[in-house]
Amino acid sequence: MSNRSSQLLAQYQILIDDLKRRFAENPDLNAKHLYQQLTAGDAFSQLRDEISDKEAELVLEFLKRDIAAFLQEHNAESLSHSPSVIALENTLWHWLGEITDRSQVEWHELAQDFKHHGYYQSGEIISQGRLVCTSCGHGMDINFPSVIPDCPECDNDEFIREALTP
Ligand SMILES: [Zn+2]
Repeated sequence: MSNRSSQLLAQYQILIDDLKRRFAENPDLNAKHLYQQLTAGDAFSQLRDEISDKEAELVLEFLKRDIAAFLQEHNAESLSHSPSVIALENTLWHWLGEITDRSQVEWHELAQDFKHHGYYQSGEIISQGRLVCTSCGHGMDINFPSVIPDCPECDNDEFIREALTP
């Protein structure tokens, strides 16, 4: 893992912790306001001091992408059939699962903003999900925030995210 990737991962974790803290302090915040507070908050401005603006935006993109992937599955209702996924305590998805039911409309709006159909590259960050190598089809399950490695089977650096199934 490169120094840069591990630094971005550390910053990503700080953002998630900040998001969780804000939600714990005010559970009535809807998703959209929560997200707005995050980008206007201390953790994000500290992050901008630690790394370049471009890298800070990148970390934010990783987080948005994770949230978007969650929302896409949530909207497809497939997640409700994957109790094992949201049952993992203290993960981003477990926590998102708790708040999404309260503000469906807001989440739907946010999902529109966050639409993402691209590929995942090694060196990028993902919080949770199943990645499949575009070259050999090898699948990797990721259950906590991680830097995406090269494919352990063929060293390919490109992946797609597969919908979670029970
Ligand atoms: Zn592969």
